[in-house]
This record gives sequence, C-alpha cells and structure tokens, in this order.
Amino acid sequence: QPAVQMQDVNKYYDDFHALKHINLEVKRGEKIVVCGPSGSGKSTMIRTINQLEEHQSGEIKINGNRMSADLPNIELMRRDVGMVFQHFNLFPHMTILENCTLAPIKARKVHQADAEAQAMQYLNKVHIGNQANKFPGQLSGGQQQRVAIARALCMRPEIMLFDEPTSALDPEMIGEVLDVMITLAQEGMTMICVTHEMGFARKVSDRVIFMDAGEIVEENEPEAFFSDP
Ligand code: ADP
Ligand code: ADP
Repeated sequence: QPAVQMQDVNKYYDDFHALKHINLEVKRGEKIVVCGPSGSGKSTMIRTINQLEEHQSGEIKINGNRMSADLPNIELMRRDVGMVFQHFNLFPHMTILENCTLAPIKARKVHQADAEAQAMQYLNKVHIGNQANKFPGQLSGGQQQRVAIARALCMRPEIMLFDEPTSALDPEMIGEVLDVMITLAQEGMTMICVTHEMGFARKVSDRVIFMDAGEIVEENEPEAFFSDP
C-alpha cells in the first residue's frame, strides 16, 4: 500500500485552477523532491495531502485512507503527516521544550514526563537539546527550524512534508537543516520536500517532480534531472 496516493486531484482557489489533475503515488520510505517556479502549486499540493487545503475533486489517500477535510477524524489522520514550513511557526511565548510537548500532550494524551523525555530525544537528535529551556527568539533561524523538525517528529508521523524549509534561512544555516533532513531520509522516513536545494535532491531523493502552472510536467530520477540531455 502506498504511503500517499493522489488520483486526479483538482484544487481551485475560487475560479483559479491551482492544481490540475494531479496524480502522484509515493511508496513507503520514498523521498520525493518537488520543484518548479514560484506560484506553480508546490505548496498547495503538499498542503492538500494533509488537508490544510481542501481539494474539490479527485482522491487523496494516506496509507489507503481517504483524506477529506470534512471527515470527523481528520485531525487524527493529519497527525500521521508531519509538516515543516518555511517560517518555523514556533510559539514564541513557549520554551523549545514546551513547543515540542504541546501537541503530544494535548492531542495524543501523552503524559507530561513521557512527552518531555521523548521531546528531549528528538531535540538531541537535531543537536539542540542543550537549548530546550530557551525561547524561540533566542535561537538562530537554523536552530529554530531544527526545533520545528523535532516538534513534528514528536508526533511520530509516518510521513514528513517539507515546504521550502531552508528558503528563509541565512546561507550559513542551510546546511545544518539539510543535514537533519538527510539523516531522516537515511533512516527511511517517507518524505515529500518542496525545495530548491538540488544538492539535497541529488543526494537523497528517489524522484524529482517538476511542477508548472498547477501540473506535474516532469517526473524523473534525480540523476536524469542533472545529466545533460
Ligand atoms: P508555489 O508553492 O509553487 O509557489 P502555491 O501553491 O503557493 O505555489 O500557489 C499556487 C498558486 O495558487 C499561485 O498562483 C498562488 O497565488 C495561488 N494561491 C495560493 N494560495 C492561495 C489562496 N489561499 N487563495 C488564492 N490563491 C492562492
Ligand atoms: P509559500 O510560498 O510558503 O506557500 P506564499 O507567500 O505563497 O507562501 O503564501 C502565504 C500564504 O498566503 C498561504 O497561506 C497562501 O495560501 C496564501 N496566498 C498565496 N497566494 C495567495 C493569493 N493569490 N490570494 C490569497 N492568498 C494567497
């Protein structure tokens, strides 16, 4: 069973056709990089996967289960899909540790001590355990983005979606975030990454998908993208 299935998915913003007949199948453990010009629908496509954006026709399945924003258990289903955004979206008035334990405690009913122990594991994994009691504003952009990744992992997602996770970072911080993503990829996480980091694409992705004007116009193994025709 594929981790993600999109079948003839169409998405409109009012009468603007933002996703046109999207077909995509992502196997468990597969790593997909999505690229294409600004406004081509990359962000919209990955946001429909966990139904942060609703689609109007076609079918989206996660592990075989149909995703639809109007399902009563959509919140539950969304938790299997971790998401990391361009802007880290951490809660500024909460410590790094509290940012990571909030959702597991509230949504997964994990006991606080367990949630904290688990959060510390993931924070250590992204090399930020020693900053756990600081606030987001005290951390660099690269550190905040690593916290955002740890926070998503604390929900133990099966699939991770990345929406331009390094685009808002100063160049010297991009590498530290990519290193964390590479580690996740090597551990077998199913990943869909919107990114312009072609080094990352080449190193870890199984497939590169190129979007233009709401359509998937090309799909290839990374080597094919980078070799001359
Ligand atoms: P990308 O991620 O490739 O830059 P997006 O998915 O963000 O592209 O946007 C695709 C198109 O949909 C763009 O033309 C954008 O202006 C439009 N769009 C995105 N979000 C909205 C929205 N909430 N309302 C109306 N139009 C939107
Ligand atoms: P990103 O590239 O990270 O998706 P954008 O600047 O494209 O960021 O979009 C930021 C927010 O604005 C998103 O929630 C998107 O849905 C919304 N948005 C983008 N384009 C439009 C648009 N043409 N009309 C209304 N909302 C939009």
